[in-house]
Amino acid sequence: MSIQVSLVKERRSPSELEALWKEDDMADGGKVRAMVVIMRTSGCCWVRSGGCTMCGYREASLREVTEEDLLKQLDQALSKYKGEPFVKIYTSGSFLDDAEVPPSVRARFYEAFSGCRRLLFESRPEFINEATVAEMPPNVTVALGLESSDPKVLESSVRKGFTPDDIRRAGLLLKSRGLGVRTYLLLKPPFMTESMAIRDAVASARFADEFSDEISVNPLNVQRGTYVERLWRRGEFRPPWIWSLIEVFKTLSGTVRARLMSSPSGGGAQRGVHNCGECDKAALDAVERFSFSQDPADLFVTCGCQAKWKAYMESEAALGTPADLDRDFENELILRT
Ligand code: SF4
Ligand SMILES: [Zn+2]
Repeated sequence: MSIQVSLVKERRSPSELEALWKEDDMADGGKVRAMVVIMRTSGCCWVRSGGCTMCGYREASLREVTEEDLLKQLDQALSKYKGEPFVKIYTSGSFLDDAEVPPSVRARFYEAFSGCRRLLFESRPEFINEATVAEMPPNVTVALGLESSDPKVLESSVRKGFTPDDIRRAGLLLKSRGLGVRTYLLLKPPFMTESMAIRDAVASARFADEFSDEISVNPLNVQRGTYVERLWRRGEFRPPWIWSLIEVFKTLSGTVRARLMSSPSGGGAQRGVHNCGECDKAALDAVERFSFSQDPADLFVTCGCQAKWKAYMESEAALGTPADLDRDFENELILRT
């Protein structure tokens, strides 16, 4: 990180929220308004060990955030709260990590939002235990970043620092107490071809179904300052196609109990999940409709680039590489259909 970025970062007040907005989500089987709160905290404990290969959250964390700062952030969130049935609290780390959000602060959040239908936050599995689960009010949903059910992918590609079984244990504990679980999967971790990524996400969703109410498939988007960004700049990584995301949903639809969903960050941009540019909006709209309806008919969208996506996967298989063929070979007409 440059000195300049570091100075800008430290100028941000630790007692102010990073962001807050309202959006649609689901609660009790229906579409509802949700308040999304992005907090400033000291950040994810795993970042201090190098972090995950695709995670740019270190940019969102501050060196020191006190209990008082966190309570001021809660006051700000409450001043904007208009009774939305769903509240989502993101900390760029783990809400259940005492070093990031002390138990006394967590208790204030639980109390403040005890009246809403759903309260969601994220946590690594090592912080999910009998004690932290016992503190939770019944409206809690914990979001678990499984990413992939393949232990080798988690270890070498994502560098997650835990195993799929750690997530399974945490998910089953939460479910046994009647709490909600939203599991995140990462579509296309580094070093995977497009077709490997589709197979990995499908297998991971089947693994997560046992302990998840919702499975959110997050296509990898290239964040600044990450290992994945270095691969991407060298043409060694292409973010997934939206067709691949649609393919994952078509394959899983009707075969898992959990609700399938995706709200891709950076969708349609070069750093995010994208198609040819012409059809990106229509394809992302289809994904959004499906995320609410679960009706596979909502995934229907067509474009000439669908054939190019298929040719892309064949080329990857033939060349045995996950490199960005769009970028390297487009001018040589290898992928022209
Ligand atoms: S992806 Fe999650 S666990 Fe990994 S470094 Fe980022 S915040 Fe931490
Ligand atoms: Zn297209």
